Amino acid sequence: MKRIVLFGYRGTGKTAIGTVLARRLEVAFVDTDALIEKKSGRTIPEIFQDEGEERFRILEREVIAGLPVSDCIVSTGGGVVMDQSNMEQLRATSVCVLLTADLATIGRRLARAPRPPLTSLPPKEEIAAVITRRQCNYAAAADFCVDTSRTSTEQATDQILCFLEKGTISVVDRKSAFRWFAASPLPAHEQEQLKSLLVGPPCDPLTRFLGVAGWPCGHSKSPLLFNRLFERYRLNCHYTRFWDTSIRTIMERAREIDAKGLSITIPFKQEVMAFLDEIDAAGQQIGAVNTVVFACGTTYGSNTDWLGIRKPLENHSGSRAVLLGAGGVAAAAAYALLDLDMDVTILNRTPEKACALAERFGCHWRAWDAFDGINPDFVVNATPLGMQPDTSSPLRDDQLKKEMTVFDLVYTPPVTPLIAAARKAGCTTITGTEVFIHQAREQFRLFFGIDVPETVIREILA
Ligand code: NAP
Repeated sequence: MKRIVLFGYRGTGKTAIGTVLARRLEVAFVDTDALIEKKSGRTIPEIFQDEGEERFRILEREVIAGLPVSDCIVSTGGGVVMDQSNMEQLRATSVCVLLTADLATIGRRLARAPRPPLTSLPPKEEIAAVITRRQCNYAAAADFCVDTSRTSTEQATDQILCFLEKGTISVVDRKSAFRWFAASPLPAHEQEQLKSLLVGPPCDPLTRFLGVAGWPCGHSKSPLLFNRLFERYRLNCHYTRFWDTSIRTIMERAREIDAKGLSITIPFKQEVMAFLDEIDAAGQQIGAVNTVVFACGTTYGSNTDWLGIRKPLENHSGSRAVLLGAGGVAAAAAYALLDLDMDVTILNRTPEKACALAERFGCHWRAWDAFDGINPDFVVNATPLGMQPDTSSPLRDDQLKKEMTVFDLVYTPPVTPLIAAARKAGCTTITGTEVFIHQAREQFRLFFGIDVPETVIREILA
């Protein structure tokens, strides 16, 4: 039997439900907090008090690394989801169940069985604050959610057993979703894979689905990358393409197959925002979302594009930067450059759009042909120039100086005319592939709470 891991905030019922579930499935029950206490010879409050949370997390990692990988129910500490190496261990070959409860219920349960405080806040405020801080990590940990606010231990256990047997997608929905995928431009071999996973045989009801949502999205390397990562981290998931002209239809289909997450690409990064319950701060300010996570009936949106742009620039903070373009990706780039305290000037073919974006972010703007007067040490191309059908460079060769760092967000071809000319001029160059690598790494973390080493992604894409 697959290992079943119970996650959730304290007071959501992990120990009680885990004990009953283990009894009914006739497998071992393992409580990681109890193992930590046994290993250290002290109670959890004593470990926190004497040696702090850091020491506790080290002990927790040691205990989790030694857990059986099958035939057991594991109840975890409430904060385990914050540690990416623990998530990597716990998610491998496991079914992950997130237990939740409303704040009042948790408050009542904790008042009956007090635990050491996690913050200096009063109990009620602490519960709300800590759950909010961990919310994305809990969403990443969830294959299946059970709200225990109004269920008995036995009822919650029944729900988990039903999920283990049948999953969450009905046979009718599986067939209907497959008909939709089959009518989309999905390549034949990807349709075949989906057919066996959705309608079988064989058909594992616990396989979770994710995908890239766009029109078109045939060029996307995300299916290759994510499916290879699923193999590596032993996740029972499949990543496909939601290829349709309507984001509404895509969101309906994603819900129909209880998708775990979506990567959003052109042209839906703005439009998808109307279908989300919560959007992170960066997504709201940039005005675009490229990552959607579905968990416990809530749809979360985030923007990882700006992190993909920011990462290769970490050593360039404070530079004088010129940003070419004022579209969707330029907004993410402006957000990243300003986050690194760069002095940013936006140049755009349509000056009104440069002005609007600059006003939104509080930076400078000039006309497209004003480049020569700025003398930047940093240039970012956020226009499609260099990519088919217009393979020209956005800058003349004589505008490139060897002191400049040139970052082209276009990644097809990997070496664009701008990058080729910048290398010839002796500039430092950064290619658009870097953005894809870093934003995908962040996306995987939002989907599963796991930190993939950059080298692993580079090897897969090579
Ligand atoms: P967008 O919203 O359509 O914006 C395009 C921008 O480029 C606009 O500012 C537009 O100026 C300008 N532009 C278009 N054609 C031009 C031309 N011939 N001469 C000068 N300026 C021109 O597109 P987007 O979503 O921001 O995407 C821009 C590019 O970023 C894409 O083509 C793609 O190559 C790249 N991208 C890279 C990644 C990555 O992971 N590396 C991810 C996403 C996108 P106007 O305002 O005058 O129309």
